[in-house]
Amino acid sequence: MGKAKASVKSCSFCGKSADQVNRLVAGPGVFICDECIKVCNTILLEDKTPIPEGFLEEIPTPKEIKEYLDYYVVGQDYAKKTLSVAVYNHYKRIMHQENMEETDVEIEKANVLLIGPTGTGKTLLARTLANKLNVPFAIADATTLTEAGYVGEDVENILLKLIQNASNDIAAAERGIVFIDEIDKIARKTENVSITRDVSGEGVQQALLKIIEGTIASVPPQGGRKHPNQEMIKINTKNILFIVGGAFVGLDKVIESRVSQHPLGFGANIASKTNKDLESLYRQMHPDDLIHFGLIPEFIGRLPIQVSLSNLTKDDLMKIITEPRNSVTKQYQAIMKIDDVALHFEEDAIEAIAEKAIKQKTGARGLRSIVEKLMVEIMFEIPSIKGAKEVTISKDVVENLKKPIVEVKSIKSA
Ligand code: ADP
Repeated sequence: MGKAKASVKSCSFCGKSADQVNRLVAGPGVFICDECIKVCNTILLEDKTPIPEGFLEEIPTPKEIKEYLDYYVVGQDYAKKTLSVAVYNHYKRIMHQENMEETDVEIEKANVLLIGPTGTGKTLLARTLANKLNVPFAIADATTLTEAGYVGEDVENILLKLIQNASNDIAAAERGIVFIDEIDKIARKTENVSITRDVSGEGVQQALLKIIEGTIASVPPQGGRKHPNQEMIKINTKNILFIVGGAFVGLDKVIESRVSQHPLGFGANIASKTNKDLESLYRQMHPDDLIHFGLIPEFIGRLPIQVSLSNLTKDDLMKIITEPRNSVTKQYQAIMKIDDVALHFEEDAIEAIAEKAIKQKTGARGLRSIVEKLMVEIMFEIPSIKGAKEVTISKDVVENLKKPIVEVKSIKSA
């Protein structure tokens, strides 16, 4: 809009002519002046923060959340319960805040620390929670933060992912869930000889601390480094739920040497510990154990809900292979069905796959690659076998001792 030739144009709201105001913005057949825009903005800001579209008007109960988690996540009962309560309280707190009187008690945000071996469902739990609550979700990897030279920008890039996953709806992103994996890899290392303080684990923890506890962060819209004159996206992180996860290898020994009257010491073999032993050990975890492990006290203080996940048992792994809607066996069965071939896994084959995964110590993470390796050979051969009708995978096939049994249609029925 130019300033000239505007004497006939006037604001459709207040009637002032273009030369009486600083700016007149044109719409189809209407105009609005800068003063009226300001008034409208104030009216909008006075309204309560609108509930973003899709955000729950009714928060599901912890039981409902747990039931939903049960549907997607095998085992981890204790973690599921704790998380269901944590998430329920988190969103209740946001609701409470919106309707809060001045005298009301302010409930502090409680972020979550998930401790558990790789492939036991930490990421899956966080993602499934976000799905249930219909809130934006982003995953970040703490190790990439240590690699960067300038930490602040990276930490804010986590928020950029969340904003992008919220289709740039900042209000929705401000109620989202962020999962930061490998948090144990940014533990403070006393022997750290890095020249730049920021690339040490402690620097990253300090940077993360700010966004986790709640701040108005400035996020560069394109990601990467901040430039001095760049427009920044402002996002308030006080209602974002941060779930951080890590394997914390060796933490069990740290707890044990503190609580046990006869500590086994660091060289001791704890491989014989059952899941139950580990569970009860982790329940005795104290913030000092995490400090010992290299997390700074302020950081731990911002993660008051600490949940440990167990190693998945053979039964758990067998369920994961076969039961979820998109389980790896169901996916291969679907692929083969397109060629009219039925794929059948014998029970002991599933068991053998689970045992392989346990040996690899990759939890459920290894299952897919074990089945994929197994299937390559079969997928290679089958399309060349005329009239192939059914393929059966036995334990021996998994253990590479035999080839799968292929049933072929009889000539008549072919
Ligand atoms: P983590 O974050 O603990 O390393 P993930 O949640 O990324 O592990 O899991 C890796 C893979 O294994 C995913 O494909 C996930 O679906 C599967 N998985 C892991 N744990 C479970 C579980 N408890 N129930 C069902 N699937 C699981």
